[in-house]
Amino acid sequence: SHSPSSVIIVGAGVSGISAAKVLAENGIHDLLILEASDRIGGRIRKETFGGVSVELGAGWIAGVGGKESNPVWELAAKSGLRTFFSDYSNARYNIYDRSGKIFPSGIATDSYQKAVDSAIQNLRNQEAESGGDHSSTSKVTEPPSTPIELAIDFILHDFEMAEVEPISTFTEFGEREYLVADERGYEYLLYKMAEDFLHTSEGRILDNRLKLNQVVRGIQQSRSGVRVVTEDGRFYEANYVVLSVSIGVLQSDFISFNPPLPRWKSEAITKCEVMVYTKIFLQFPYKFWPGCPEKEFFIYAHDRRGYYTFWQHMESAYPGSNILVVTLTNGESKRVEAQPDTDTLREAMVVLRDMFGPDIPDAIDILVPRWWNNRFQRGSYSNYPIISNPQVFYNIKAPVGRIFFTGEHTSERFNGYVHGAYLAGIETSRAVLEEMRKERETEDGSQTQL
Ligand code: FAD
Repeated sequence: SHSPSSVIIVGAGVSGISAAKVLAENGIHDLLILEASDRIGGRIRKETFGGVSVELGAGWIAGVGGKESNPVWELAAKSGLRTFFSDYSNARYNIYDRSGKIFPSGIATDSYQKAVDSAIQNLRNQEAESGGDHSSTSKVTEPPSTPIELAIDFILHDFEMAEVEPISTFTEFGEREYLVADERGYEYLLYKMAEDFLHTSEGRILDNRLKLNQVVRGIQQSRSGVRVVTEDGRFYEANYVVLSVSIGVLQSDFISFNPPLPRWKSEAITKCEVMVYTKIFLQFPYKFWPGCPEKEFFIYAHDRRGYYTFWQHMESAYPGSNILVVTLTNGESKRVEAQPDTDTLREAMVVLRDMFGPDIPDAIDILVPRWWNNRFQRGSYSNYPIISNPQVFYNIKAPVGRIFFTGEHTSERFNGYVHGAYLAGIETSRAVLEEMRKERETEDGSQTQL
C-alpha cells in the first residue's frame, strides 16, 4: 500500500529517534518510523501531577563530571534543560525505623560498610565459581536480615549504587547524577533531536514519516526485503528494519517473525533480565517532612525487603509542590501494579505514619506508573547478570538478516540508561549504513560482470 522505504524504524523512543537522525544525516530520507503509542519518547515520559511535570520513566542524567562527556548531558546543556544535582550520599544518614527514629549515623555507616563489603565478597565468590577457580576458598557472607541491612541491601542492588561494581556510566562519564525537573519534560530532548530531521511546527512533529498508533505485530523478511505488519492490518515495506522495542517486548513474543528468529537469537533474548522500577508520586495538602537538601532522600527500614524503602521529596526541584516520591522495584512493582491505587495509597500512608507520626495528613493524589503491564514496555530496563556470558549480549544485539536490533539493551557499556539507548541508536544506524554500502558494492560488482 506504501512505496517501499529504505529503512523502517520500529519505536520512537530515544534509540529510535537517534537511529533515524543518523540515517537522515547520511542521506537516507525515505525512512519511516512506526510507533505503537500516541507519542514519541517511550520510557522518557512526563506527566503533569500536582501542578508540575513529573517523570514517570527516566528521571536522571546519570554519569556526569568524569573523564568522558556524557552525550545526553551535552544535549541537555544545549537545549537548556532544567536539572538539579542529586546527592545520594546523605541518604544513609536518613534511615528511619518503624517507630520513626532515625538510626544513629555510626550504626548507619557501619551497616552500610558491612553491606558493601559483603556484596563485594559475594561478587568475588561468584567470579571464582564461574571461572572454575576453586583454589581461593570463598568466604561465607551472612545474608542481610535486619530491617536496616535489608534496606541498605535494596539501595545497593536495586539502585545500582556504584560502590559494589564498576559501572561504565560512572567510571567513564562520572559519578554525578542530575535530576531532570523541567516543565517541558526530559522528552524535550527528543523533540529537539527530532527537529533536526523531521518537519516540525511549534514543537509538534508534522512529518508523515513518523506514524504514531502503529502497533507492529509481524516482521517478515525475504532475501530482498522486509515487510512490517501492524495490528490494524496495514503493512509497510523496506530494505531494512531497525527494531528498537524493549527487551521485555521481545521476550513477550508480541511481534512474530517470519521466518522465526534463529535459536541463538531467541535464547539470548530470554536470558536478559528485565527490571521493573516504579516511581510512585504522592501529593499532600502541606509539607510535613524536613524539606532541606540534606534530607532529600530518605530510607524506610522494614522487615520486608523493598517495602516502600526509598523516598525522595521534591522541594529542591519544585518548592511548595508538596510531592513525595517512593520507588518500588520488581516483585513490589508488580504487586502494586495489580492492585487499585487506593490500596497503594493506604499502604504508603501507613509507612509514612511509621516515619512521621500519626497526625500527618493523607495524600490528596497518587500516580502509579505501570511499566510492567504496558504491552509496549513489559518492564523498565534490561539488567545483564553481573557474571554473565558476553555472548548473550552479542547475540541480543546481532542483526538477523535485514532486521537490526537497537535500544538500551543493545548498549554494551551503558545498557539501562538513556545515554545507552541514544548511543545504541547511533551505532545500529552505522551498522545499517555499512550494510547498505556493502549491498551496493555487490550490486555494482555483479553489474560490471554482466
Ligand atoms: P523505549 O523508550 O522503550 O522506546 C521503544 C519504543 O518502541 C516505545 O516508544 C514503544 O512504545 C515502542 N514500541 C514497543 N512495541 C512496539 C510495537 N510492537 N510496535 C511499534 N512500536 C512499539 N535511564 C536513565 O538514564 N536515567 C534514569 O533515571 C532512568 N530511570 C528510569 C526509570 C524508569 C521507571 C524507567 C522505565 C526507565 C529508566 N531509565 C533511566 C532507562 C531509560 O528510560 C531507557 O534506557 C531508555 O529510555 C530506553 O530507550 P529505548 O529507545 O531503548 O526504548
